[in-house]
Amino acid sequence: MASARPKGPRPKHIPLRTCIACRQERTKRELVRVVRTPAMTVQVDSTGKLAGRGAYLCRNRACWEQALKSHRLGGALKTTLSPADLAALHDYAATLPETSGTTT
Ligand SMILES: [Zn+2]
Repeated sequence: MASARPKGPRPKHIPLRTCIACRQERTKRELVRVVRTPAMTVQVDSTGKLAGRGAYLCRNRACWEQALKSHRLGGALKTTLSPADLAALHDYAATLPETSGTTT
């Protein structure tokens, strides 16, 4: 009987994830999951279903650039990003808006 339900005005349970760049908590829908696969490659997980160790980033370029530049993504994934991985992630980041802008 471990139903430790915190009291508060939150009618629905919405799981939050933390962006590894800006540390903001957001819903999974607002974030992009990056996963290190068992084959030790790193890829963007647009379905959220890939196996492996994941990290979350906002859907904006600033967070991606920061995470890639600071090697924070590799640290979060407990791996070293290969040049090919980095290039692919930079390409993906280039498709994102510069900032997250308005919500919903
Ligand atoms: Zn962020």
